[in-house]
Amino acid sequence: MKLNILWMYHDVMDLYGDKGNIKVLEKRCIDRGIDITIDTCGMNETCTLSNYDILFIGGGADKEQALLYKDLLSRKQAIEEAIQGNTFILLICGGYQFFGTHYIDNKGNIIEGLGLFDYYTQSSASVGRCIGNIAIEADLDGTLVKVVGFENHGGQTYNVATPFGKVLSGHGNEYKSSYEGFYNGQILGTYMHGPLLPKNPEVADFIIKKGLSRKHDNVELDALEDGMEHKAKEVILTRLNVI
Ligand code: GLN
Repeated sequence: MKLNILWMYHDVMDLYGDKGNIKVLEKRCIDRGIDITIDTCGMNETCTLSNYDILFIGGGADKEQALLYKDLLSRKQAIEEAIQGNTFILLICGGYQFFGTHYIDNKGNIIEGLGLFDYYTQSSASVGRCIGNIAIEADLDGTLVKVVGFENHGGQTYNVATPFGKVLSGHGNEYKSSYEGFYNGQILGTYMHGPLLPKNPEVADFIIKKGLSRKHDNVELDALEDGMEHKAKEVILTRLNVI
Protein backbone atom coordinates (compact mmCIF):
# COMPACT_ATOMS: atom_id res chain seq x y z
CA MET A 1 0.00 0.00 0.00
CA LYS A 2 1.05 3.55 -0.64
CA LEU A 3 0.28 6.73 1.32
CA ASN A 4 1.06 10.26 0.06
CA ILE A 5 1.08 13.10 2.57
CA LEU A 6 1.41 16.81 1.89
CA TRP A 7 2.65 18.90 4.81
CA MET A 8 1.58 22.47 4.04
CA TYR A 9 3.47 25.48 5.40
CA HIS A 10 5.86 23.13 7.23
CA ASP A 11 8.38 25.97 7.73
CA VAL A 12 5.88 28.50 9.17
CA MET A 13 3.05 26.62 10.87
CA ASP A 14 4.65 24.47 13.57
CA LEU A 15 3.98 25.04 17.28
CA TYR A 16 4.47 22.90 20.40
CA GLY A 17 5.79 19.89 18.54
CA ASP A 18 3.26 19.78 15.68
CA LYS A 19 5.90 18.33 13.35
CA GLY A 20 5.82 15.25 15.59
CA ASN A 21 2.48 14.36 13.99
CA ILE A 22 4.22 13.84 10.67
CA LYS A 23 6.95 11.77 12.36
CA VAL A 24 4.33 9.51 13.95
CA LEU A 25 2.44 8.97 10.69
CA GLU A 26 5.74 8.17 8.98
CA LYS A 27 6.97 5.73 11.64
CA ARG A 28 3.66 3.87 11.96
CA CYS A 29 3.59 3.38 8.19
CA ILE A 30 7.23 2.28 7.95
CA ASP A 31 6.72 -0.24 10.80
CA ARG A 32 3.93 -1.82 8.77
CA GLY A 33 5.74 -1.81 5.46
CA ILE A 34 3.43 0.86 4.03
CA ASP A 35 5.16 2.90 1.37
CA ILE A 36 4.89 6.50 2.58
CA THR A 37 5.86 9.74 0.85
CA ILE A 38 5.88 13.08 2.67
CA ASP A 39 6.12 16.21 0.54
CA THR A 40 6.07 19.79 1.77
CA CYS A 41 4.40 22.85 0.29
CA GLY A 42 5.56 26.30 1.36
CA MET A 43 4.28 29.76 0.48
CA ASN A 44 4.39 30.57 -3.24
CA GLU A 45 5.35 27.01 -4.13
CA THR A 46 3.48 25.21 -6.89
CA CYS A 47 1.88 22.08 -5.41
CA THR A 48 -0.84 19.78 -6.76
CA LEU A 49 -2.94 19.28 -3.65
CA SER A 50 -5.27 16.73 -5.23
CA ASN A 51 -2.36 14.27 -5.61
CA TYR A 52 -2.37 13.55 -1.89
CA ASP A 53 -4.19 11.19 0.48
CA ILE A 54 -3.61 13.40 3.52
CA LEU A 55 -3.04 17.15 3.86
CA PHE A 56 -1.62 18.47 7.13
CA ILE A 57 -1.34 22.03 8.47
CA GLY A 58 0.06 22.71 11.94
CA GLY A 59 -0.52 25.64 14.26
CA GLY A 60 0.95 29.11 14.12
CA ALA A 61 0.87 32.37 16.04
CA ASP A 62 -1.22 35.30 14.78
CA LYS A 63 1.88 36.72 13.06
CA GLU A 64 2.38 33.59 10.96
CA GLN A 65 -1.33 33.36 10.17
CA ALA A 66 -1.34 36.95 8.91
CA LEU A 67 1.77 36.23 6.85
CA LEU A 68 0.40 33.31 4.90
CA TYR A 69 -3.39 33.47 4.77
CA LYS A 70 -3.42 35.07 1.32
CA ASP A 71 -1.31 32.24 -0.04
CA LEU A 72 -3.77 29.76 1.45
CA LEU A 73 -6.79 31.63 0.05
CA SER A 74 -5.20 31.49 -3.42
CA ARG A 75 -5.33 27.68 -3.10
CA LYS A 76 -9.04 27.51 -2.15
CA GLN A 77 -10.10 25.86 -5.40
CA ALA A 78 -7.27 23.33 -5.16
CA ILE A 79 -8.30 22.49 -1.58
CA GLU A 80 -11.91 22.02 -2.67
CA GLU A 81 -10.76 19.70 -5.46
CA ALA A 82 -8.70 17.68 -2.98
CA ILE A 83 -11.74 17.41 -0.71
CA GLN A 84 -13.88 16.24 -3.63
CA GLY A 85 -11.18 13.64 -4.36
CA ASN A 86 -11.49 12.32 -0.76
CA THR A 87 -8.22 13.65 0.61
CA PHE A 88 -8.24 13.56 4.42
CA ILE A 89 -7.21 16.83 6.11
CA LEU A 90 -5.66 17.23 9.57
CA LEU A 91 -5.49 20.78 10.93
CA ILE A 92 -4.00 21.93 14.20
CA CYS A 93 -4.98 25.17 15.95
CA GLY A 94 -4.10 28.05 13.57
CA GLY A 95 -4.56 25.61 10.66
CA TYR A 96 -7.98 24.68 12.04
CA GLN A 97 -8.96 28.35 12.37
CA PHE A 98 -8.08 28.95 8.68
CA PHE A 99 -10.85 26.64 7.43
CA GLY A 100 -13.60 28.68 9.07
CA THR A 101 -14.91 32.01 7.82
CA HIS A 102 -12.46 34.29 9.65
CA TYR A 103 -10.24 34.91 12.62
CA ILE A 104 -10.21 38.24 14.46
CA ASP A 105 -6.89 38.57 16.29
CA ASN A 106 -6.29 40.39 19.57
CA LYS A 107 -5.59 43.67 17.78
CA GLY A 108 -8.88 43.46 15.90
CA ASN A 109 -7.28 42.52 12.57
CA ILE A 110 -9.47 40.27 10.47
CA ILE A 111 -7.70 37.30 8.92
CA GLU A 112 -10.00 35.93 6.28
CA GLY A 113 -10.49 32.17 6.30
CA LEU A 114 -11.23 29.73 3.50
CA GLY A 115 -14.88 29.74 4.57
CA LEU A 116 -15.28 26.04 3.89
CA PHE A 117 -17.22 25.76 7.16
CA ASP A 118 -19.41 28.18 9.12
CA TYR A 119 -17.30 28.36 12.27
CA TYR A 120 -15.28 31.46 13.09
CA THR A 121 -12.72 32.48 15.66
CA GLN A 122 -12.30 35.58 17.74
CA SER A 123 -9.48 36.40 20.10
CA SER A 124 -10.93 37.45 23.41
CA ALA A 125 -8.56 38.88 25.97
CA SER A 126 -11.47 39.47 28.37
CA VAL A 127 -12.48 35.81 28.46
CA GLY A 128 -8.99 34.38 28.86
CA ARG A 129 -6.42 32.36 26.98
CA CYS A 130 -6.90 28.62 26.80
CA ILE A 131 -3.64 27.06 27.98
CA GLY A 132 -2.71 23.67 29.38
CA ASN A 133 -3.15 19.96 29.03
CA ILE A 134 -6.50 18.87 27.68
CA ALA A 135 -8.40 15.58 27.52
CA ILE A 136 -11.45 14.95 25.39
CA GLU A 137 -13.66 12.07 24.42
CA ALA A 138 -13.54 11.96 20.65
CA ASP A 139 -15.89 10.11 18.35
CA LEU A 140 -13.82 8.45 15.61
CA ASP A 141 -16.62 7.49 13.24
CA GLY A 142 -18.52 5.71 16.02
CA THR A 143 -15.61 4.62 18.22
CA LEU A 144 -15.27 6.68 21.39
CA VAL A 145 -11.65 7.33 22.35
CA LYS A 146 -10.04 9.44 25.06
CA VAL A 147 -7.61 11.83 23.37
CA VAL A 148 -5.04 14.01 25.16
CA GLY A 149 -3.06 17.02 24.06
CA PHE A 150 -1.82 20.47 24.95
CA GLU A 151 -3.67 23.65 24.00
CA ASN A 152 -2.53 27.26 23.86
CA HIS A 153 -4.82 29.60 22.01
CA GLY A 154 -6.36 33.03 22.48
CA GLY A 155 -8.84 32.40 19.69
CA GLN A 156 -12.30 31.26 20.72
CA THR A 157 -13.98 29.26 17.99
CA TYR A 158 -17.74 29.62 17.71
CA ASN A 159 -20.51 28.01 15.68
CA VAL A 160 -18.89 24.61 15.23
CA ALA A 161 -21.58 22.32 13.84
CA THR A 162 -19.76 19.01 14.37
CA PRO A 163 -17.08 19.07 17.10
CA PHE A 164 -14.25 16.52 17.28
CA GLY A 165 -15.03 15.62 20.88
CA LYS A 166 -16.43 16.45 24.31
CA VAL A 167 -14.07 18.16 26.73
CA LEU A 168 -13.26 16.05 29.81
CA SER A 169 -10.65 18.49 31.16
CA GLY A 170 -9.32 21.72 29.65
CA HIS A 171 -10.98 24.31 27.44
CA GLY A 172 -11.52 23.27 23.82
CA ASN A 173 -13.12 25.54 21.26
CA GLU A 174 -13.84 28.27 23.78
CA TYR A 175 -12.62 29.12 27.26
CA LYS A 176 -14.04 26.43 29.58
CA SER A 177 -16.20 25.04 26.81
CA SER A 178 -17.77 21.62 26.51
CA TYR A 179 -16.62 20.79 23.00
CA GLU A 180 -13.33 20.65 21.17
CA GLY A 181 -12.34 20.87 17.52
CA PHE A 182 -14.22 20.06 14.34
CA TYR A 183 -14.67 16.77 12.51
CA ASN A 184 -16.96 15.97 9.63
CA GLY A 185 -15.71 12.53 8.55
CA GLN A 186 -12.97 13.93 6.31
CA ILE A 187 -11.59 17.10 7.83
CA LEU A 188 -10.34 17.08 11.41
CA GLY A 189 -9.46 20.39 13.04
CA THR A 190 -8.30 20.50 16.65
CA TYR A 191 -6.63 22.77 19.17
CA MET A 192 -4.59 19.84 20.42
CA HIS A 193 -0.86 20.30 20.06
CA GLY A 194 1.55 18.34 22.11
CA PRO A 195 1.89 17.05 19.37
CA LEU A 196 -1.46 15.28 18.95
CA LEU A 197 -0.51 11.88 17.57
CA PRO A 198 2.34 10.37 19.69
CA LYS A 199 0.12 9.93 22.78
CA ASN A 200 -2.96 9.07 20.73
CA PRO A 201 -1.97 6.14 18.50
CA GLU A 202 -5.64 5.33 17.83
CA VAL A 203 -6.03 8.73 16.20
CA ALA A 204 -2.81 8.25 14.21
CA ASP A 205 -4.01 4.89 12.85
CA PHE A 206 -7.49 6.27 12.20
CA ILE A 207 -5.93 8.99 10.02
CA ILE A 208 -3.60 6.52 8.24
CA LYS A 209 -6.62 4.33 7.46
CA LYS A 210 -8.62 7.29 6.20
CA GLY A 211 -5.74 8.31 3.95
CA LEU A 212 -5.16 4.78 2.60
CA SER A 213 -8.90 4.31 1.98
CA ARG A 214 -8.74 6.95 -0.74
CA LYS A 215 -7.05 4.45 -3.07
CA HIS A 216 -7.40 1.09 -1.33
CA ASP A 217 -10.49 -0.91 -0.40
CA ASN A 218 -11.06 -2.62 2.97
CA VAL A 219 -7.89 -1.29 4.59
CA GLU A 220 -6.81 -3.21 7.70
CA LEU A 221 -3.72 -2.16 9.65
CA ASP A 222 -1.40 -4.58 11.45
CA ALA A 223 -1.38 -3.98 15.21
CA LEU A 224 1.74 -2.30 16.59
CA GLU A 225 3.17 -2.46 20.09
CA ASP A 226 1.80 0.72 21.71
CA GLY A 227 2.61 0.16 25.40
CA MET A 228 4.74 3.27 25.75
CA GLU A 229 2.22 5.47 23.92
CA HIS A 230 -0.64 4.35 26.18
CA LYS A 231 1.47 4.87 29.30
CA ALA A 232 2.22 8.43 28.17
CA LYS A 233 -1.50 9.04 27.66
CA GLU A 234 -2.33 7.59 31.08
CA VAL A 235 0.13 9.95 32.77
CA ILE A 236 -1.79 12.93 31.38
CA LEU A 237 -5.22 11.43 32.10
CA THR A 238 -4.19 10.74 35.69
CA ARG A 239 -2.75 14.22 36.06
CA LEU A 240 -6.05 15.65 34.82
CA ASN A 241 -8.07 13.28 37.02
CA VAL A 242 -9.86 11.84 34.04
CA ILE A 243 -9.21 8.11 34.49
N1 GLN B 1 -3.01 32.41 16.86
C1 GLN B 1 -4.03 31.53 17.19
C2 GLN B 1 -4.62 31.73 18.58
O1 GLN B 1 -3.95 32.14 19.51
C3 GLN B 1 -3.52 30.13 16.99
C4 GLN B 1 -2.48 29.71 17.99
C5 GLN B 1 -2.00 28.31 17.80
O2 GLN B 1 -1.91 27.78 16.67
N2 GLN B 1 -1.58 27.70 18.90
O3 GLN B 1 -5.78 31.46 18.75
